[in-house]
Amino acid sequence: MTLLTFRFAPSPNGELHLGHAYSALLNQRMATQAGARLLLRIEDIDVTRCTPEFEAGIFRDLEWLGVDWPEPVRRQSAHFSEYQAVLDRLITEELVYPAFMSRGEIRAFIAETDKRGRDWPRDPDGVPLYPPLDKALSTKERKRRMAENTPFAWRLDVEAAAARDGRTLSWTEFTDESMAATRIVEANPREWGDVIVARRDIPTSYHLAVVLDDSLQGVTHVVRGQDLYSATGVQRLLQELLGLPPPRYFHHRLVLGPDGRKLSKSLKDTGLAALREAGMLPADVRRLVGL
Ligand code: GLU
Repeated sequence: MTLLTFRFAPSPNGELHLGHAYSALLNQRMATQAGARLLLRIEDIDVTRCTPEFEAGIFRDLEWLGVDWPEPVRRQSAHFSEYQAVLDRLITEELVYPAFMSRGEIRAFIAETDKRGRDWPRDPDGVPLYPPLDKALSTKERKRRMAENTPFAWRLDVEAAAARDGRTLSWTEFTDESMAATRIVEANPREWGDVIVARRDIPTSYHLAVVLDDSLQGVTHVVRGQDLYSATGVQRLLQELLGLPPPRYFHHRLVLGPDGRKLSKSLKDTGLAALREAGMLPADVRRLVGL
C-alpha cells in the first residue's frame, strides 16, 4: 500500500495568519481522515525575504495549534543544487530561455501595444504576460548579453513546452474536503504565458521547486488555498515535462479579512502570534476559521 502524504508548505517571509491556520488545520484533519502523514515544508527560496525568525515563528505557531510533523523538515534553500540539475535539463532541452527585459521595458512595451489599440493579455492574477521579444533572440545575442552580465531570468517557453507534450493536460481535484468524489480539471498553462522557472541567482522558482519537492517527498495530496487553483495548470505542465507523477489536489476556500479581502502577511491583527498574545486559545482559532 502506498503511503499517503499531505504537506503544509508555508514561506517564512512573514508571520502566519488565520488563513495559514485554516490551511494547516484542514491539512491535518484531511490527512488524519485519510490515514496519511502530514509533512511540513519550508518554502524559503526567496533568500532575501525569508528569515530564520519567521521560520521559528512558523514552528511556534503550528506547535501551539497542535499540528505536528515528522522530522527532518525539508527546507528548500538547502536544495538549490537539486533544482539546478533540473533547470539544466530544461535549458538543454530548450524549454526555457533567458529573459532580459526589465520591469520598465516590459511596461513600455505594453504601453506601446495598448496605444495601438490592442489590449495586452494578462495572467489570472492580472499581471501582463511576458512579451515575446526575448524568445526571438539569436543564440549569439543571448550569449553576448549573458557574457556582459545583463540580468535575466529563465522563463518557460510555454508554447514549445505545451506543443511538445501535445496532449491536453488535466488534474484531479477533490470536490470537497470529505474527499468522497473528484472531478477532472483541464490545465491551461498558456494563460500564464512564459512563467519564470529560475532567477539568475536562484536556480528555481516557486513553480519548479513545488513540483520537484512534491514528487521527491512522495506527496499524494496537495491541500492548499483557492488562490493557487489556476497556477496548478503551470505545475501540471512542469510535472509532465519532468516526468513527475501528479498528486491529487484540493483547493480550499480562503479565510477573508473583515474587509472581505484575502489576508496578507502584513495584517498584524489576524497574525497567530498576536492572537495568542491577546489571550486567544487554539480552540478559538479553530472556531474563527470554521473548523
Ligand atoms: N509556499 C506557498 C505559500 O506559502 C504554498 C505553496 C503550495 O502550497 O503549493 O503560499
